[in-house]
Amino acid sequence: MERKKNFFAGPSVLPMEVLEQMRDQMVEYNGQGLSMVEASHRGGLFEDMYDECLATFKELLHVPDDYDMYFLGGGATLQFTMIPMNFLRPGTVADYIKSGTWANKAGEDAEKLGSVNYYYDGTDNKFTSLPDPATVKPSKNSSYLYLCSNETIGGIEWQDFPDTGDVPLIGDMSSDILSRPVPVEKFDMIYGGVQKNLGPAGATFIIMKKSLLEKQNSNLTAYMDYKLHSKEKGLYNTPPVFSIWGVKLVLDWIKKNGGAEGMAVRAQEKSSIIYNVIDSSAFFRSPVDAKYRSKMNIVFRLPNEDLEKKFVNEAQKEGMLGLKGHRSVGGLRASVYNALPKEDVVSLAQFMKEFEKNNG
Ligand SMILES: *Cc1c(COP(=O)(O)O)cnc(C)c1O
Repeated sequence: MERKKNFFAGPSVLPMEVLEQMRDQMVEYNGQGLSMVEASHRGGLFEDMYDECLATFKELLHVPDDYDMYFLGGGATLQFTMIPMNFLRPGTVADYIKSGTWANKAGEDAEKLGSVNYYYDGTDNKFTSLPDPATVKPSKNSSYLYLCSNETIGGIEWQDFPDTGDVPLIGDMSSDILSRPVPVEKFDMIYGGVQKNLGPAGATFIIMKKSLLEKQNSNLTAYMDYKLHSKEKGLYNTPPVFSIWGVKLVLDWIKKNGGAEGMAVRAQEKSSIIYNVIDSSAFFRSPVDAKYRSKMNIVFRLPNEDLEKKFVNEAQKEGMLGLKGHRSVGGLRASVYNALPKEDVVSLAQFMKEFEKNNG
């Protein structure tokens, strides 16, 4: 097989090693006479794997002991509803940082359930920048402050996080989880879909400070209730078994490759290769504030849209997939998640320079 160079934003590239492990163990898991995807989620085969998965996740992200960790279904998108349902208390507001597609969608869902204050609104700069975290202070009657650590579509990423004092800080880290160390203790909740950086689509990780549950609304239906999921460790109903198994293998791979710290070095290295090409050329242009450039999703533009179309087509012929920007913002986007080999990034950089020579 000639493997494609996969720059898709999600679902996205997985480590070759993990795909091979899944293939080798698809029919029979560890000599047990059945597949992991056939095993009961109430049995040892699954539960041992699940416990190891959570333990490795905790270790890699340095999650303190007073946090619960588990996986749910429904994607990151379900959390846009569950968060305000659980934590936006009547008579208070929730502060949202309106930073781009994903934070905005979360805010819109919260508006249907209570009062939302947009602490920051990036509409005027077309979501190409973020507030200085040192200046971010939640409202007086705030139930929580919400942010998205990496806007996958806009290509901007928080470099530091605000201190919100007694007000819980909640972060969607779908697209940069474990690409770098994170000060987990600043957050009361971190969550995200796994399909960008952690595994095959299906599962959503939840990391929640236990004390946050004390501030929960009452009268929630079963699946909407974080307290129930905490108690059941995410196994109240059938979990996305295949996805979680994939995550477990990806976490082992991350651990073998230097953990969050090792991934941060890789991300810095890989993203600079592309940003250097952009910065040293008048042909390519980065539309985002340099201070907040994402190390996972590199958004860039060419002099006109015809050239952008040509770029995507010619790249595809070279086996480079997924370089078209999201339809809502246009342009180009290279997602360079953890599992993307550095050689593929080097190939893209070479292709960019070649393309400029021929079309600039
Ligand atoms: C992809 C993405 C989502 C949506 O995830 P689903 O699992 O499809 O619901 C939410 N937030 C961010 C930052 C994303 O990148």
